[in-house]
This record gives sequence, C-alpha cells and structure tokens, in this order.
Amino acid sequence: MSLVSLINKDVSYENESSEGIVSLRILYIILTAVLLADLLFAGIPSLLNYKYVIIGAFAFIIVMFLLTYRMKTKPAIISYLVFMSVFITVMIPVFGWGGGLQDFFLVVLMLVFIANLGSNLFKFALAGIVFVVRSIIIVVYGSMGSAVYMDDISGKYIHVVNNAAVFLSIMAISYIFSHRENEAESKLMKYNDKLVKEANTDQLTGLHNRRRALELLDELKSSSYLGSLTIVMGDIDFFKKVNDTYGHDVGDEVLKSIADSMREICGTKSFLTRWGGEEFLLIFIGKNGDDALEDVENLRRHIMDNPIKVGEHEISVTMTFGLAEYDFSGDMEATVKEADDKLYMGKEAGRNRVVY
Ligand code: GH3
Ligand code: MG
Ligand code: MG
Repeated sequence: MSLVSLINKDVSYENESSEGIVSLRILYIILTAVLLADLLFAGIPSLLNYKYVIIGAFAFIIVMFLLTYRMKTKPAIISYLVFMSVFITVMIPVFGWGGGLQDFFLVVLMLVFIANLGSNLFKFALAGIVFVVRSIIIVVYGSMGSAVYMDDISGKYIHVVNNAAVFLSIMAISYIFSHRENEAESKLMKYNDKLVKEANTDQLTGLHNRRRALELLDELKSSSYLGSLTIVMGDIDFFKKVNDTYGHDVGDEVLKSIADSMREICGTKSFLTRWGGEEFLLIFIGKNGDDALEDVENLRRHIMDNPIKVGEHEISVTMTFGLAEYDFSGDMEATVKEADDKLYMGKEAGRNRVVY
C-alpha cells in the first residue's frame, strides 16, 4: 500500500468527512520527519541522555497515527491537541526555546478552527485552551537554552527545519480543506444546473416547457423589450386519431419527431416550447410577423411532406399554426391569446395552414 493511499484511507466512520483525519495523518508524518531531522542536526551522541524521551516520543507519534484509523474526527483532534501540548512541553527543554517547536501551536490552532467540530463555542473553547497552554509554556520556558550541547549553527538548522515543518503543516491543512471544499462546491453547482435544466425542460421532447416559456415572456416584459417579437401557437391536426390508430406510445414518438423537425427548421431562430399535450409555442425574438411566417411555413411544409416512421408505420401528420406579432402594448399574454385564436381559426378553416 502506498503512502498516499495509507493517508487517504477513509475514516472508519462513514458519515464523517475525511479532511480532519487525513490532515492529522499528514501532520504526524511531518512531525516524525522533523523529529528525525532535529536529531540529525543536534548530533546523536549529545542526545544519549534523552534517549528514553526521544524513543517515547517516536512511539507516541506512531500510536497517535494508528489511532486515526480508529477514532472519529472530534476525539482525534482533541487527542492531537493534548499530544502536541505534551510533546512540545517535553521537547523544548531538549532542543531549547530557539528550536521553535512552540510554533506548532499555530498548526493546532488552525486545525481546531478549520475542522468540522460542531459548535463554534466548542472551537473557541479549544482555541482558548491552545492559547493558555502556549502562554504557560512562554512563561515557563521562554528563552530557555538547549539541554543538549550543540553549536550555534546546528541550533539554527533545527529552527529552520521546525519552521519549514510548521509551514508545510499549515499548507497541507489549507490545501486539503480548500481542495475538498472546491470539489464539493463544483459538484453542487453541477447538480444545481441539472435541476434548473430539468425544471425548464419537457421530458418527452426535450423542448422548453410551458413554465420556462412563461418565464421568458415575463423577462421580456419586465426588461421592456422593444424589438420585434412574434408568437406562434401550433397544434397537431387530428392527433387523437394517431393515438387511436397506433396507440399512445407511437403517439409519443410522433411528438418527439415533430419536436426534432422544429429544432431542425426553427431551432436557431426561435424559442421552442411544448406548451402542453400536442400544442407547441414558438417565440421568435427579433423577428417580425412576415419573417416568422416564412419559417413557420417551411416548418409546416416539412412536417406535411415527411411522414414519420415509427416501427413499421409511416404516419403522415399535419399541423395548424396561429401567428401573432407583438404590438408593444406590454401585454404578452394578449399576443399569446391572439396566436391561440388564430390557431383555432385555422382549425375551423380546414387545418394544415398558418393563419397570420
Ligand atoms: P385537432 O385537429 O382539432 O387538434 O384534433 P386533435 O385530435 O389533435 O385534438 P384533440 O384536442 O381532440 O386531441 C388531442 C389529443 O392529444 C388527445 C390526447 O390524448 C393527445 N395527447 C395529448 N398529450 C399527449 C401525449 O403526451 N402523448 C400522446 N401520445 N398523446 C397525447
Ligand atoms: Mg390537435
Ligand atoms: Mg390540442
């Protein structure tokens, strides 16, 4: 198992997000590395007096690391806080105040605040504890020298190494939390887009639905749209007969095929809506009645001339349309009503035509 999968192996509690635990594992690994580096710079012989403290520290880090596979985030982070308080308290006398180990409290503070620990009050309480412990350590150990003998330059190396470890730890925590958050956010945004699309789309034909068409008309109205606008209401002729003859499922296929023809002939020029049942509303934005008439005539002829193949059937259908030009009265509903009335007139007059 690689180190990465060992770190990422999810928490044993599924209902928790894994950021906190993953951060802790990385922090313990960084701490192991930093302790090893400190020992190297301090020089092994000078540390012999502290061998039990140091071996104990390593053993504790390993135990704490392993516990992250058993613990929930909250107790694991509290344990980290306690462990680091003890670790820093024990280690400062070894490496001296100049070693800078006390800066690890900033890492603890950050983790306490960024991790999902429930209430804010709890976070502030933990932050308060971190502050108090660090303050006590400043009072007790501030400017304490190193217990082991080391030259000036080794002391500086140790400080640099510890400083690098603090930086790395903060970077790791920031990366893990911001990365996962962005991931979750983009997932949510995609899901949201999908929901909006579904709410605006007719399931059967993939055209816009009535809700979306009404919304568009509302938007045009409230933006006081002043360009040309033509509204067309279309209805399939004798569609009941198609259903009665071939069945409802074949009827559905005919509806889909009609929608495809609309997309093909008028898709780039108008806003296509399944208004309901076998009725369609076409909104031509920026087109006057004469121009829209040309497109609708093309569509009507295309539907008439191309029987729809469904299975072994070839079904000829026609459509009747009513076309109304918007008159800038501010009353879009009136234009829709006019298109509907004209459609009815077309039906009365014998169907398969565009009434303008
Ligand atoms: P007209 O030329 O006067 O429009 O005649 P028509 O038979 O098309 O009109 P009518 O309003 O009497 O019938 C419309 C039919 O459309 C009735 C209904 O069963 C059918 N219909 C409505 N929605 C759907 C649908 O989603 N799928 C199918 N297969 N049929 C539908
Ligand atoms: Mg009909
Ligand atoms: Mg109808």
